[in-house]
Amino acid sequence: MTTRALPIALFAVSALARAADAPDLATIHRIKTEAFENSKVMDHVFYLTDVNGPRLTNSPGFQSAGDWVVKRLTEYGLTNVHEEPWGPFGRGWSYTRFAGHMTAPVYAPLIGFPLAWTPGTSGPVEAEAIYAPIETEADLEKFKGKLRGKIVLTMKSRDLAMPTNPPGRRLTDAELSPDIEPGRLPNLFRPIGPERSPEMQKRLDFRNKTNQFLADEGAFVVVHSGNIGDAGTVFGQQGGSEDPKDPVPPPMVVLTPEHYNRVVRLLDHKIPVKLAFDIQAQFTDPGDSFNVIGEIEGGRKKDEVVMLGAHLDSWHGGTGATDNATGSAVAIEAVRILEALHLKMDRTVRIALWGGEEEGLLGSKAYVKQHFADRQSMQPKPEYFKLSAYYNDDYGTGRFRGIGVAGNDEAAPIFEEWLKPFHDLGATTVTHLTERANPRPNSTDHTSFNFVGLPGFDFVQDPMDYNTRTHHSNMDVYDRVQPGDMMQCAAIMAAFVYNTAMRTDMMPRVPMPKPIPADKQTTK
Ligand SMILES: [Zn+2]
Repeated sequence: MTTRALPIALFAVSALARAADAPDLATIHRIKTEAFENSKVMDHVFYLTDVNGPRLTNSPGFQSAGDWVVKRLTEYGLTNVHEEPWGPFGRGWSYTRFAGHMTAPVYAPLIGFPLAWTPGTSGPVEAEAIYAPIETEADLEKFKGKLRGKIVLTMKSRDLAMPTNPPGRRLTDAELSPDIEPGRLPNLFRPIGPERSPEMQKRLDFRNKTNQFLADEGAFVVVHSGNIGDAGTVFGQQGGSEDPKDPVPPPMVVLTPEHYNRVVRLLDHKIPVKLAFDIQAQFTDPGDSFNVIGEIEGGRKKDEVVMLGAHLDSWHGGTGATDNATGSAVAIEAVRILEALHLKMDRTVRIALWGGEEEGLLGSKAYVKQHFADRQSMQPKPEYFKLSAYYNDDYGTGRFRGIGVAGNDEAAPIFEEWLKPFHDLGATTVTHLTERANPRPNSTDHTSFNFVGLPGFDFVQDPMDYNTRTHHSNMDVYDRVQPGDMMQCAAIMAAFVYNTAMRTDMMPRVPMPKPIPADKQTTK
């Protein structure tokens, strides 16, 4: 072959590849019609959020949501539907009452909620407030002996700027750059850091030390304000820990910063403040958790599998609507669409709704280890070679604008073809070409697959009000979920799963990564 002929030959090959991956437009049209005209996606969200409530891993709400998903998937005709255990997880935690008040110098109701894995108050309590910001070891010394019987405000108060930006937005065309997700730099050349960085470990150690200190000092209730957010939107996660070996702090609550700041200003003026709380919270015994699994059995290649999923667990301040009832509902809706159309698919389709994502992708990591490979040994199990792809949805309610290939460049031309029927619905972009192929599991569950070299993909989504309002806040509720966006997500999810199930070959994958020896592994 002459050098002059080479570009023509390459062009011919890529044109062939494109033809092979051109989607079956008649089926894609049926999928779109089912997704938009017979949508059940908001019904899934309603049951997961309004009816069920929050789904903190191993709380009663997590269990009941899992049971509900099993029932719904079974009704839709999926097979092999079950709660698949993994573990150990640690303690479960839930709360059944929260009331907060300022009772002096004047009365005011307080907006907030308890932090996870902290105890209740054993009935209504009222006490004097003290401002004791604790950020360093020196602060522990400073407040020693001063906190007994007090309601302690342990975070620095935060100046609240005037809001000038709209809380929600979509990605601009410029932000939908083909190879770099907004705000992200190529990480191809970054070293694979430990899963838990030394700084993170230091923060956790200091949290545990502070919790032990506050308990030993006899603080009555500990009060936080969110690190971000304002206007009644309270961002908060955990105060204690699911690990039964970690110290249990006093009852802890997080308040909207305006209410928190008011108390701090009063105390700064030497005006005594009394606060009152009534919190009921329950721990359950340590135990295993579970992922919910279900299948649509394939035809002539049924031993090969296409997976889709999202995490079922959530935080507890709201109802975990955009994090991640939305992703769970989209995955449920995608398999409903595929079942409703009675599509005959070559490969088996398997949905997985994960537990323990918020505590470190625990459910998906355990599943990958049990079914596919452990990065420590990299001795793949037979199923490793039978998984074509995993598709994840976990960035809120915004419609899909494209898909990330997670450093798997060969997937890009395929996805470009598959996105074409969705360009008019705003999904146009293939991204993450410049990503390292096997990063430590982080961000969300598809990276658990990437870590062992399996093709795991995440969709690029419009941010909406995820980072300003809903992500891990008390306002992560049904009303923040956008029905039209959800239908678009479900249509694309169903189409990508269908295309993957019907493609001649399994999806291309990156070379199998090398084992990471035990001494380079981290604790979790
Ligand atoms: Zn999430």
